[in-house]
Amino acid sequence: MPFLRAPRLSLFCCFLSLATCVPAAVTLVAAPSAPAVRPPGTAKVGDLAICPVQGQTFRVSAETTHAEWKGKTYSFCCDGCLEDFLKAPDAYTGPL
Ligand SMILES: [Zn+2]
Repeated sequence: MPFLRAPRLSLFCCFLSLATCVPAAVTLVAAPSAPAVRPPGTAKVGDLAICPVQGQTFRVSAETTHAEWKGKTYSFCCDGCLEDFLKAPDAYTGPL
């Protein structure tokens, strides 16, 4: 019964096209260049910044918690980090 081989063959072709399709999609997702992350004290609204307290990366918005310290604006990932920073700013910014 030779006609029985046809569905099996098309299934195999399907698998092949999937296998070539998936890596292309993954490449597309990974392709956009990562925006530069600003070190503490230099980030502006829209930048990716590093929280000087927790060290985690976050996006600075107009509502982002921040503090002025020695002429620089430090942005924080949350209010808790701001509180910790205000207790000992030098511990997080280093001697300037
Ligand atoms: Zn935080």
